[in-house]
Amino acid sequence: MKKVESLHTFAMNAVADHEDEGTAISTPASVVGVMEIAKQTFPGCITAHQLARAMNVILEPKGFDKDTTLLTTSFDCDEVCRDLEDELRSVYGQNFSMGGIGGFPFGGCTAFGAMGHHIPTSGQVVIVFGPHVGIDFDGVIGKVNRRGHEGSGHCCDTAFTGLEYVKAVKGGSIIHSPDASDPIDAQQVFINSALMDHSDRLLSASNSEVELPHVMFDCQEALFKRIMAKCLPGDVANGVKIALLGGIQVNTPLGTPEYFLPKTFTTFDSSGKKESDLLAALVDEGHKDIKKILMQKRLKERTARANAGLLNVPIEGL
Ligand SMILES: [Zn+2]
Repeated sequence: MKKVESLHTFAMNAVADHEDEGTAISTPASVVGVMEIAKQTFPGCITAHQLARAMNVILEPKGFDKDTTLLTTSFDCDEVCRDLEDELRSVYGQNFSMGGIGGFPFGGCTAFGAMGHHIPTSGQVVIVFGPHVGIDFDGVIGKVNRRGHEGSGHCCDTAFTGLEYVKAVKGGSIIHSPDASDPIDAQQVFINSALMDHSDRLLSASNSEVELPHVMFDCQEALFKRIMAKCLPGDVANGVKIALLGGIQVNTPLGTPEYFLPKTFTTFDSSGKKESDLLAALVDEGHKDIKKILMQKRLKERTARANAGLLNVPIEGL
């Protein structure tokens, strides 16, 4: 056994393995295939567009006015994670970002406290966090086709590196030697250690690539609980409501919808006391037929215009 000489070398070797393999050409069949695999592998997942719409539908009646609600995210650095953020920003505007690699809220208490001071007066905050996992055109979980590449690559790189680290330590080829003292790779060191705590779960899973984002999520949720326990009450103004949505971002190749599997959706008061569990309502709203909703909305608008027009018709003799 040997100590890891360079975690960076280990990480780069791990992610370079099987890089740019597979199909990079989109066909109607591959697009449908990716969508089916996303739904089968992550039951309950919602398209990113539907997620943003459904969140607003559920939160608005609870006082989360989208014009005075600050969006906060904690997602990975990977460019494939920006599509979901774009959808959320299309509802709430610019986001505060707490995320580090893997989607962990490495901004910690300092970022949370700063975010608390950025919430508009009499406004609320929505926090969305989670790890991510890709599906490539060949239906491989844990990989994705990125722009300008001939094949697919690991997704999420960080999580995959952590899984390879766990396998190497448990397989006896390296010694677990966490040292987060150097900031240039402190985040990956932390994640490797966090995944080591779940090594049995990861290695005994029928598909480690599918289990991996669930384990990453549990580690991130635990961190969010610690941050909120430390920062609340105090770091947000009295009366502010906090909506915390956590789940797994499912990245897909170009031409297919991005997905998000919600795993927790809860509102808290400014002291951190839980107010309501909205997960079931979100999943239900997120799976409604968007075409039907749009048609009903247009019909309602047309009816309202027609009614307004009728009211303006002058009646002779009066
Ligand atoms: Zn990643």
